[in-house]
Amino acid sequence: MSTSSFKNKCVSQVNCVYCDSLLCTRGMKAVLLADTEIELFSTDLPPNRTVDFVAGCYSTESCKCKLRDIACLKCGNIVGYHVVAPCKPCLLSCNNGHFWMFNSEAVSTVNRLDASGLNLLLWGDLPELEGSEDESPDSLSEEEYLR
Ligand SMILES: [Zn+2]
Ligand SMILES: [Zn+2]
Repeated sequence: MSTSSFKNKCVSQVNCVYCDSLLCTRGMKAVLLADTEIELFSTDLPPNRTVDFVAGCYSTESCKCKLRDIACLKCGNIVGYHVVAPCKPCLLSCNNGHFWMFNSEAVSTVNRLDASGLNLLLWGDLPELEGSEDESPDSLSEEEYLR
């Protein structure tokens, strides 16, 4: 049931608020179950060459998830965290398959539009990405230019 509700959520483009570089194009607005005051944006794909890990793993007091902060690759500011190893309660309760989180204070987001440019792009409209991460035409053409 919970997965279908995710499909009605808007897809957001996530930019670093400090240097305005694009961090990810598949952001989903999420609210932490533990602390509803904190607004987050999550994504299902590892951000491609836009962020890097800082320091080591840590856990919060609310659960046993192993987290690691991520920083914008361009300006070095911390923009969120990656769930390295989710704890069991989290896996069972709030798992939307998103293990990359952006802190809403560190990013600016824009809702994406669908192909017509008239409607908001929803998660249900996105193609399934399983096993096709490396086949994006963008990265292919990028490689061509480098030659
Ligand atoms: Zn930045
Ligand atoms: Zn957890």
